[in-house]
Amino acid sequence: MSGLFGVISKSDCSEFLIYGTDYHTHMGSEYGGLAVLDKDFSRYIHKMSNANFRDRFFENIKELKITKGIGCISDLDEQPIYIKSNLGDFCIVTTGRIENIKELSENLMGTGVCFTEFSKDYVNMTEVIARIVASSSSIVEGIKKVFQKIKGSCSLLILSREGLYVARDYHGRTSLILGKNQDSIAVCSETCSFTNLGYKTIRDLNPGEIILINQDEIKTLYEGEKKKKICAFLWIYTGFPASDYEGINSEIVRERCGKALAKRDKDIKADFVAGVPDSGIAHAIGYAMASKLPFRRALVKYTPTYGRSYTPPSQFLRDLTAKMKLVPIKEIVNGNSLVILEDSIVRGTQLKNFTVEKLWNCGAKEIHVRPACPPLMFPCLYCNATRTNSELVTRRAIKEIEGKEIENIDKYLDYTTPQYAKMIEWIRKDLNITSLKYQTLEDMIEAIGLPEQDLCTFCWNGKGCKGCGNETV
Ligand code: SF4
Repeated sequence: MSGLFGVISKSDCSEFLIYGTDYHTHMGSEYGGLAVLDKDFSRYIHKMSNANFRDRFFENIKELKITKGIGCISDLDEQPIYIKSNLGDFCIVTTGRIENIKELSENLMGTGVCFTEFSKDYVNMTEVIARIVASSSSIVEGIKKVFQKIKGSCSLLILSREGLYVARDYHGRTSLILGKNQDSIAVCSETCSFTNLGYKTIRDLNPGEIILINQDEIKTLYEGEKKKKICAFLWIYTGFPASDYEGINSEIVRERCGKALAKRDKDIKADFVAGVPDSGIAHAIGYAMASKLPFRRALVKYTPTYGRSYTPPSQFLRDLTAKMKLVPIKEIVNGNSLVILEDSIVRGTQLKNFTVEKLWNCGAKEIHVRPACPPLMFPCLYCNATRTNSELVTRRAIKEIEGKEIENIDKYLDYTTPQYAKMIEWIRKDLNITSLKYQTLEDMIEAIGLPEQDLCTFCWNGKGCKGCGNETV
């Protein structure tokens, strides 16, 4: 996943652009990038692991008078991409995931298009999108062509001489929200970037909507679709607590998730509730509110250095980050029974090796783990949250139980079946914990507060949607 920020202003907007982009740092860990338009286009990309990219950007653009710009925090490819084309020159940033990227790029190469940017995952997704747009009769037609051709999801910002084009993914899986302050109009993936910069939210874009922003005008070029499939994981884990999507705050949803778990856990006997930092904390607060058990911090994160653990590109780095970032507090854990709230369990290895083991080593008496969402059963096809079946602890459990990999896992999706119970017991033993109880899909959806048909729940039930290359419903 990546985070996008764009701004058009009547006066210099360098600070809005840099801080606005910086507030998306939790969305990716590879590159920070900006493109600005003064007399000409300039773009700057920094590896986030190397330096404080915010200071570097200030250094990059201090001589320029910036009234238009786009920024991106990317978890995979270098962006923005700048291209000259029949439609004029433009810069583009994207977020999403495209399943058929290889096929699309090979089709373009067959027509003589060359690619200049490189990616660990074959070709740079943003460059492929830029080339598709540039091969059309207008930028709007180009964006519509992107929506027709891709399998997966893509939201984008295009900085051109006419203004800032903004397009939200055709199914609305990734967020794009419009805001306004005294001097400027901005668009972001995460509304936590608006608050301290004085932006008031205007509205979320519709799925598939395309707009053009100028200094004092927002023009709708394509109204978009009524049907949506917004990523439910935004509220559970990937989004920032201070961000709202569709007007629903992420921290509040997490509290509701914790409360729902506690309501199904009436007989639990424990000394206190704790969360795995950061996103498990709000779930734990909700659980504590509903269960009346005290909330305590059994684990703290060394925040000056460590960000999220799933975003580093290699498993080695992910594990190292997970191992180092959480520090248990022995004086709190020793001799106590704990309920531990976690946003989700993907592989389970980090929870087992770097959380549970540390708590046992500190003298925990019992460890009851409560993930805030149901078991993750399918890898994300739309935004890179999880990438393959083999990464999922649920699939490892099923393989062990069945003695082989099986295609049809329907019986493991329903929490009332014996197969589901067996899978949970296998995971519990593997994690070496006292008890394990997951959230139900119904409770998670109710905690979010949108109708089920408006949410993407593919991770949990494998239900995709038409046009996503995954037409299981
Ligand atoms: S598959 Fe999961 S992570 Fe991916 S968009 Fe859907 S809900 Fe979000």
